[in-house]
Amino acid sequence: MKHYDAIIIGAGQAGIPLAKKLAEAGKKTAIIEKRLVGGTCINDGCTPTKTMIASAKAAYQAKNATHLGIEVGQVKVDFKKIKKRKDEIVEQFRASSERGIESTKGLTLLMGRATFTGTKELRVDLADGKIENLSADLIFINTGAKTIIPPIKGLNEVDYLTSTSILELDEVPEHIVIIGGNYIGLEFGQMFSRFGSKITILEKSPNILAKEDQDISKEICNVLTNEKIEVLTGVDVTEIKKAKSGLQVELNSESSAKKIKCSHVLIATGRKPQTEDLGLIYCGVKTDHQGHILVNQKLETNIKGIYALGDVKGGPAFTHIAYNDYTIVYRNLIEGAKLSIKNRPIPYCMFTDPQLARIGISENEAKEKGLNYRVAILPMSQVARGIETGETMGLMKAIVDAESKRILGAAIIASEGGEIMSVLQMAMEGGITYDRIRHCVFAHPTYTESLNNLFMKFKDEA
Ligand SMILES: Cc1cc2nc3c(=O)[nH]c(=O)nc-3n(C[C@H](O)[C@H](O)[C@H](O)COP(=O)(O)OP(=O)(O)OC[C@H]3O[C@@H](n4cnc5c(N)ncnc54)[C@H](O)[C@@H]3O)c2cc1C
Repeated sequence: MKHYDAIIIGAGQAGIPLAKKLAEAGKKTAIIEKRLVGGTCINDGCTPTKTMIASAKAAYQAKNATHLGIEVGQVKVDFKKIKKRKDEIVEQFRASSERGIESTKGLTLLMGRATFTGTKELRVDLADGKIENLSADLIFINTGAKTIIPPIKGLNEVDYLTSTSILELDEVPEHIVIIGGNYIGLEFGQMFSRFGSKITILEKSPNILAKEDQDISKEICNVLTNEKIEVLTGVDVTEIKKAKSGLQVELNSESSAKKIKCSHVLIATGRKPQTEDLGLIYCGVKTDHQGHILVNQKLETNIKGIYALGDVKGGPAFTHIAYNDYTIVYRNLIEGAKLSIKNRPIPYCMFTDPQLARIGISENEAKEKGLNYRVAILPMSQVARGIETGETMGLMKAIVDAESKRILGAAIIASEGGEIMSVLQMAMEGGITYDRIRHCVFAHPTYTESLNNLFMKFKDEA
């Protein structure tokens, strides 16, 4: 049995930087990866999707340039080229991560599947068929998440797409039915609609983006339906079958039953932690009923010396959160800091066009908490930059504390919503109140400049 100071299971967004820094700090470290270095984000998450979304936006803008006085003629989508560009960027990012690991002294990369055999002991089934038995003083679980396949009648008898397999298509599908109206489903829905697919989005809840405020969900729904994407909410998929050509999706809603013929079905109903095959029973690490590893606010599991980072521990499943998990664990262990995940900001951005960017609490949450809050809303149709660029869909919404005037949360639906939200995030971090932002000098005509006008909406104080 080979002994290490530290072993990281999973070369994802938390695992890679952690492994490198631990090795640089003088710890003999191994990182084990069963599939591809870089994890979900680089290989089948953020990087490929945002790369393809850029192509989809270019197609959309070219097809819709007439109102700006530009005649483009017929727009052709070269999907093979789009996929090639995506593959090249993914490979470039992955290769850079691999080089980073290989060039770190004291760090060993093992390509294979790790399973616990004892409290601090692991077996690794290496890709070349060999087996290695390892032990370590510190073990970090960063095994990420995978697509949930819902128990829909007939689903297992048909070929369906997931967020991973859809990235490998060589041709634009004719008609995709997307089951699940959340971030992943909506990003793919708009992207493939802009490539030329007919899209139907099916959502069980009364609204898409069920966790967001209703006005936010409604605005995004308008964006999609304006682009001829069909959105059906409050529907239950009862069965999926093979049809003469393609597939047939059967569904029930409160008012009616319906059958939809399509060429492809994309499953986008959520993701679950990759803990089933980890042999956690042999190390005694506890999970919740969904399989997420239970951790305290310093990301320690119930077993001393074993930590869990990223999607596998549940909570917000974003790359920047996994990365922040790494900084917390590393700085606590090596720099003697006393950091925790309590009260850290959770910004996020859905990369539809316009984007939906969020930070802090929603209006619904403010209501539930019984806070003394005020809400400011500015439609993008009143934003100079939006009018000038022709991007008037969306809105800016901020929730503020009525007494302290601090910003509690924001939702920005705008072309560069993520960047505008980050300005508000900085204000929240620095305690800059909305009455200061209202009179702050921003460059004209930027989107951010409209934060003046957003907070002018509190007219009684202007
Ligand atoms: C389609 C899609 C789009 C997304 N877009 C965004 C976005 O725009 N912005 C954003 O912030 N987030 C996005 N995400 C989420 C983001 O990708 C994840 O939150 C992030 O990758 C989580 O990182 P992680 O380190 O927890 O795990 P991962 O990056 O998933 O890494 C886990 C690694 O562990 C390996 N592993 C698992 N089990 C074992 C084992 N037993 N032995 C060895 N190795 C193992 C896996 O192969 C994997 O490489 C997206 C996700 C998807 C699916």
